[in-house]
Amino acid sequence: MMSYDWQAGLFLFGTVIVLTVATNFLPFKVPALQQERLRNRKANKAKLALAKYPPVVNAGRWVGGLSNLAFFAAVAPFCVTLAPQPWWRMLLDIAAVLMIYDLFYYLMHRFLFHGQGYFRRIHGLHHQARSPTHIDAYYVHPLETFMGLNLFLWLIPALAWAWGPFHAVSIGLAYVIYVQLNILNHCAVDLPYFPFKTLHWITTKHALHHKNMHMGNYATITLLYDKLFGTLE
Ligand SMILES: [Zn+2]
Ligand SMILES: [Zn+2]
Repeated sequence: MMSYDWQAGLFLFGTVIVLTVATNFLPFKVPALQQERLRNRKANKAKLALAKYPPVVNAGRWVGGLSNLAFFAAVAPFCVTLAPQPWWRMLLDIAAVLMIYDLFYYLMHRFLFHGQGYFRRIHGLHHQARSPTHIDAYYVHPLETFMGLNLFLWLIPALAWAWGPFHAVSIGLAYVIYVQLNILNHCAVDLPYFPFKTLHWITTKHALHHKNMHMGNYATITLLYDKLFGTLE
């Protein structure tokens, strides 16, 4: 039986805020990362000066904001608890939420958004960004933003219904990892040396996906499903 735990829900919301502020702040104490951030900001500014960017970015903010509001106020408190759980259960939950989401997202991205017809045209907007930078994470048709975000958000009550409530911290971490990876994917990062090699690789792989509508690398969390299904570029 799932019940509305407002304290756990509020704790989850607080965790998301704190982790988001920390990820927007702490990594940029590293000079190389700060430099890449400035480079992205410069590119963002040029793109936002084009008439086509602001309406799409603003529409996405509305769709994202309202979806998040509905989730954190009305759905998440039914799915989370503050009752202690072993650390391995929490790690397993985070990995499971992210990997199950990534499988559904992979299928949706490959067969719906890169299929034929209406959804291909919708997704074509996001693919206008041939060399993506930070802002292109938000240069997405509002219907696609709605579908992608709600796929993630509604997976949580579905899994909580099947497995029982998650710890609030597990969902907070999974949510922040999901959002930040979606943003990071689109950043222009040119640091092909230690200790930034993985970061460089992640951004290069998604930039390759943006080259045209016929490229693989459909997943966003890891490229495991691309490797498994032969679409890794
Ligand atoms: Zn695509
Ligand atoms: Zn993209």
